[in-house]
Amino acid sequence: MVRQTSPARLAKPESAADVVIIGAGIGGLSAGALLARRGLKVIVLEAHDRPGGYCSSWRRTIRHQGRMCSYLFDAGVQDISGIGDRGPLRRLLRQLQAEDRIDWRPVRHHYVKDGLRLSVAPDAKAYALQLQAMFPADADGITAFFVQIEAVYREMYADIDATGGVPTAPATIDAMMAWPARHPHAWRWMRQPFAVMLDAYLSDPRLKSFLTTLADYVTERPESLSVADMAPLFGYYFDCGYYPAGGSQSLADLLSAIVTEGGGQVHLRRRATRILLENGRAGGVETADGVLHRAPVVLAAGDVQAMLMDLLDEAALPAGYLRKLRAMPRGPSAIVVSLAVDSMPDLPARIFVRHQAMDFGIGNPSAIDASLAPPGHAVLTVLSLLSEKEAGGWDRTAEDYRAHKAMAADKLIDAIEATVWPELRQHILYRQVATPATFTRYAGTRTGNIYGAARGQWRPPVVSPIPGLLLAGAGTVTGAGVEAVVISGTIAADLIAPPARLAVPV
Ligand SMILES: Cc1cc2nc3c(=O)[nH]c(=O)nc-3n(C[C@H](O)[C@H](O)[C@H](O)COP(=O)(O)OP(=O)(O)OC[C@H]3O[C@@H](n4cnc5c(N)ncnc54)[C@H](O)[C@@H]3O)c2cc1C
Repeated sequence: MVRQTSPARLAKPESAADVVIIGAGIGGLSAGALLARRGLKVIVLEAHDRPGGYCSSWRRTIRHQGRMCSYLFDAGVQDISGIGDRGPLRRLLRQLQAEDRIDWRPVRHHYVKDGLRLSVAPDAKAYALQLQAMFPADADGITAFFVQIEAVYREMYADIDATGGVPTAPATIDAMMAWPARHPHAWRWMRQPFAVMLDAYLSDPRLKSFLTTLADYVTERPESLSVADMAPLFGYYFDCGYYPAGGSQSLADLLSAIVTEGGGQVHLRRRATRILLENGRAGGVETADGVLHRAPVVLAAGDVQAMLMDLLDEAALPAGYLRKLRAMPRGPSAIVVSLAVDSMPDLPARIFVRHQAMDFGIGNPSAIDASLAPPGHAVLTVLSLLSEKEAGGWDRTAEDYRAHKAMAADKLIDAIEATVWPELRQHILYRQVATPATFTRYAGTRTGNIYGAARGQWRPPVVSPIPGLLLAGAGTVTGAGVEAVVISGTIAADLIAPPARLAVPV
């Protein structure tokens, strides 16, 4: 039976707003900031003690050689796309009149793959030339491949002026009919597996592996990706990726500040426990402290399964939708090792390594932001993806949890010493290891999943089957990554209050 708000519950303390948002991740905050700028009263409820979700930072201060040394680590995000002129995050900041409130630092990549090394050039044309020098037998194919993938990428973002700054499906039958002729490369390739596109132009498997490197940003199963999944990731080559100076928290803090500047509220340490339903419509949210936050629109922007299956009576959802939701694979989790080191490695901000069948990424943001560590020191973040199955074995209450964690971190540190920094161990001053259990604890994800939901399957759209309830964030159809969740937040905001008009009922 669908749970309704009982009269007894009305005695609880209440607040009222136009929109209540659950989760201050970048998806929820993008929507919140836009809606606050458009004059709506917004309440954001966040379980953690800071906004940002996976786009937040944490500080550790340690005593070293008699002085206190302070280090700022990122929980996740370090390389952000969508900041080129047609990028969704650029367009969001422009709409919010906040473009100059973040200092973006370009992120350079270095790839070390099975003995081959490449410091990726800062623009895509130069990158293609580097690959041609490394793989001369594929030189013509490399030229042809880059022409195609760039055309797909540009066409995917071609209409964003007309669609509120985000790439979306055509809205009318006429636009749908005209789409293939206006976007011929995207039409030809988007639904193809990315591996098919690589095979059409290239032969060397090591070259294909280089060109698939950035799949790590959305999945541990690159074979599951289509050209539509990969083309936006090529945006890192065509329009560059960026790091916000001062750590990823800067972006979350900016969006959060815009919510409050517009008269909204971002409540921290406030866990949502129930989405209120009134006559089949969402009517607000109850938090763990017993407060009812009433609003005609609720935007659920945390883990989608948790939002829809834990905060709602499942009976409120149509049976077919619930079945798909239950069956939805959640995608990878990760081991993340955060290190403070007393030396500045000679490495760019982002390194991707494949060593003895092990893939991992190293973030070295100190290379572009000296504020994160004391002079001459650096912070490093090492990320190794785990499949959903591998993620299931991490239990914080298990006796061997700490030993298990230490072993996983040691293995990664060994691999770094074998590939990019032989003396790493002797420079480590502090280390912290996050596991799937950590991600479940801090981000409220059901399985410790870090990319919302697995690729290559159904994912829920922004509009839920419950009137007044919308979804945003990495678990929705737009997928994971800051750029993708900005798209989901912008779509949600535009449905709730289109830029030109206010408070249109959903
Ligand atoms: C290690 C790692 C590295 C990454 N690197 C990058 C990168 O370099 N570039 C990039 O673009 N992307 C990266 N990503 C992916 C990116 O961080 C995410 O896809 C994106 O930030 C997710 O945003 P979101 O809006 O879905 O919310 P999330 O970040 O998942 O945040 C959801 C928020 O909701 C809150 N919440 C959940 N349940 C409740 C509740 N019941 N009540 C109140 N609050 C609740 C959580 O506390 C959390 O703050 C990385 C992710 C990880 C984990």
